[in-house]
Amino acid sequence: MTSEIAQERRIVTEIPGPRSRELQERRRAAVPPGVGSVLPVYVTDAGGGVVVDADGNSLIDFGSGIAVTNVGNANARVAERVKAQVERFTHTCFMVAPYESYVQVCEALNALTPGDHEKRTILVNSGAEAVENAVKIARYATGRQAVVVFDHGYHGRTLLTMTLTAKNMPYKHGFGPYAPEVYRMPLAYPFRWPSGPENCGEEAARQAIDQITKQIGPENVAAVVIEPIAGEGGFIEPAPGFLPRIAEFAEANGILFVADEVQTGFARTGDLFACEHEGIVPDLITTAKGIAGGLPLAAVTGRADIMDKVHGGGLGGTYGGNPLACEAALAVLEEIEARGLVERARAIGDTMLPRLRELAAAHEAIGDVRGRGAMVAIELVKPGTKEPDPQLTAEVARRCHQAGLLVLTAGTYGNVLRFLPPLVIPDHLLNEGLDILADAFTAATA
Ligand SMILES: *Cc1c(COP(=O)(O)O)cnc(C)c1O
Repeated sequence: MTSEIAQERRIVTEIPGPRSRELQERRRAAVPPGVGSVLPVYVTDAGGGVVVDADGNSLIDFGSGIAVTNVGNANARVAERVKAQVERFTHTCFMVAPYESYVQVCEALNALTPGDHEKRTILVNSGAEAVENAVKIARYATGRQAVVVFDHGYHGRTLLTMTLTAKNMPYKHGFGPYAPEVYRMPLAYPFRWPSGPENCGEEAARQAIDQITKQIGPENVAAVVIEPIAGEGGFIEPAPGFLPRIAEFAEANGILFVADEVQTGFARTGDLFACEHEGIVPDLITTAKGIAGGLPLAAVTGRADIMDKVHGGGLGGTYGGNPLACEAALAVLEEIEARGLVERARAIGDTMLPRLRELAAAHEAIGDVRGRGAMVAIELVKPGTKEPDPQLTAEVARRCHQAGLLVLTAGTYGNVLRFLPPLVIPDHLLNEGLDILADAFTAATA
């Protein structure tokens, strides 16, 4: 069941250690700095709740490679299925000569994503490619051009998806001009809503709908594209009522509702998909990250009547739905079911949220604690204000890294610490990670 790698934190050198620093030097001569790394420890092994580096340090993993290894790194079922496939064949190109596993993954996604209607799925390589394809399909099916996105949204790094993304640095800066016909609306961000969190959902929805109506014209809008919980934007859970109101407006106006579940999908939030929380049934849903245990795979799943409209040959790509990635995805879906990982994600949230609230009670710098399931975060502010504190956020993250806890930051203002442990992390590592975080806060604010 559990990975063979020892499930312990073990720090034997400074972080990063000498071997990692040596590799970092080589990397500097080979890889441009535009590609960053949160923590340059060079990984040799990973599994369960730990990542082991080239110096023999074993770090607790609160990142899952950005919500990807939900079933753990080196998951046995994933490894077995991929190994069997790699020995049979590695690629034919589904557009040249198809194979069953692609169809199986599509059948599974059609059955498991929200809504009982007839669905179709296409497979591609990355989250950005899935979002691009969702927009292509939505434009084709509606004959309309405008795309509506939201503040704090993140949808990828290609020309179109970087345009859909809200934040300038580091995603957009210097990479313009951007794609046309993209319009950004307010998001119901409870912690930062001017009139407070109580009326946030309703007010934000009203503003968004008013702006769409007055500035674009609903009849010109192909799709609204939204993350049910904004990921890179800082794990912002839109205030209750916001998503249903936007979905209702979209439906009434022939606008397709595209849920970008690239980060929230596959049991992460304590539902298989985050849309389920408020009973949203999207017209199209994009998935990636948690789908295949780290093998490159992504999907667009949507209403059959929409998906079937596009002409033959209009969709695809050389590697999309690669057979190794499809086998991995089938293994991931089996693991989620067999190990009850939806329930496990909820249990992780039930462990983390109370301890983070306790920490917030002790540290004025923690302005907000939020999240669902195993997708939780804290937002750091200057005490007594809502002014973001990205310096303290970086300092706490640095201290966590030094102590052997891999945490990630996020947020439009760079002031969010986000926690995405693998869903198979053992409880003792989860608790030890939270202890390290508490110590890091005490030291950083002393
Ligand atoms: C990561 C992410 C993407 C982009 O996925 P890539 O695989 O990095 O292209 C798109 N949308 C959301 C919500 C994401 O979190």
